[in-house]
Amino acid sequence: AWQQAVENLERVLSERDFTTWIKPIRFSHIENDSVYLSVPTLFFKEWLEEHHLKSLVDALSKTAGENVSITFIIREHDAEAEQLQPEDLIIKGHEENEQIKDPSPESTFTPLNYKYTFELFVSGTGNQFAHAAAMAVANNPADTYNPLFIYGGVGLGKSHLLNAIGHTIRGTSPELNVCYCSAEKFMYEMVNALRQKRMEQFRNRFRNLDVLLIDDIQFISGKVGTQEEFFHTFNALYDMHKQIVITSDKFPREILDLEERLRSRFEWGLIADIQPPDLETKIAILNKKSQITGIKLPEDVVYFLAASDTRNIRELEGMLIRLGAYSSLQSVPISLDMARETLKDILGDRRKDITVELIQKVVAEHCGLKIADLKSSKRLKNLVQARQIAIWLCRDMTKASYPDIGARFGGKDHSTVIYAAKKIDQMIKDDLKLARFVDEIKNELLK
Ligand code: ADP
Repeated sequence: AWQQAVENLERVLSERDFTTWIKPIRFSHIENDSVYLSVPTLFFKEWLEEHHLKSLVDALSKTAGENVSITFIIREHDAEAEQLQPEDLIIKGHEENEQIKDPSPESTFTPLNYKYTFELFVSGTGNQFAHAAAMAVANNPADTYNPLFIYGGVGLGKSHLLNAIGHTIRGTSPELNVCYCSAEKFMYEMVNALRQKRMEQFRNRFRNLDVLLIDDIQFISGKVGTQEEFFHTFNALYDMHKQIVITSDKFPREILDLEERLRSRFEWGLIADIQPPDLETKIAILNKKSQITGIKLPEDVVYFLAASDTRNIRELEGMLIRLGAYSSLQSVPISLDMARETLKDILGDRRKDITVELIQKVVAEHCGLKIADLKSSKRLKNLVQARQIAIWLCRDMTKASYPDIGARFGGKDHSTVIYAAKKIDQMIKDDLKLARFVDEIKNELLK
């Protein structure tokens, strides 16, 4: 029945999908009404589960004449798996590659990360320009900006965009030879090629591409040999009108120990920067990630995370995952209190220098008030709100207890403090302007 199912699938799937994803699957055994199929890697398993499970179940059920379920198991590393996997599907991170003593010449290219597509990228303030440039290049390789140089801080989505370009081009022009490779990997492969006296092969490989996507180019800073080789690769591709996209954590001029001729080439095309996301973008990203991961976040927690002092999306994702894990392992729902408690360590560490006094000073400055006003009991509307914001910040950003905070706000009792903080919790959910205002003060405090 398995063989039959495979034949049926060959008819319904595209040739590429079939060869890539179905052919490498091996029938293993049947147990408790489930068909066990073995696959080469965990990545493979996840991909199949996400994209092809339904067609597989349908095809098998049809040929078996009854409804079957499928369980994927990962087979032991075998030569066959190695051969069967197209090069761009073998998951080999740098760490793993570092240990490979004698990589075959075929292992040059790193696979694209299947989660990094344009569909899963949230465009917002900070990344809009880079996003638009990446889309333009993906839709018209070598005809818009060449090279495209994307730079920005760590964890802000550079690799994501680079991979997304790769996915789009592979999808629309499968005949194009697309290579995604970190600068570190480039160097690693080059050194290996040198050692094994197969530089020619290495060069042929890199100079016969249609699209070269190089991640983290700052890595070649100070590495003279790698710069030299990359310079020639760049020229060869550029002269043949091939698309080059480069990412870096720095602007070309700021990369230390980079040859001038490379630096100027990086500036030939378009330079697009990615800046840290603003509050709304962080909220949108969290909602998207929550959808993708299935980790459901109440609205106030979304805000709490978005407004927390991370400016880096990788960290934001880390917090989401941590909450998801904690919630499922401890069987507790995710709530604001639970989030505050669970992330206390991560957030607390960065805030050790923030005191009640500092908060009072910064809030007073931002609101155009005197510190004494914050501590008073005056009931003017703008004053009450500023006081509540300050109290709210003290609760979230300092270790001070409720009575402590109350005492330093002119001797208020702790229920007033709790009320004030809850009031702001509520308001920032409904009032984006206020949320942004509070976020600004927070950023100021964290500077
Ligand atoms: P960088 O290469 O800039 O260090 P990455 O591209 O690896 O950062 O991004 C870090 C994480 O944040 C990834 O999981 C990525 O999916 C996510 N991410 C970054 N920006 C966005 C965005 N705008 N929308 C969705 N996810 C994003």
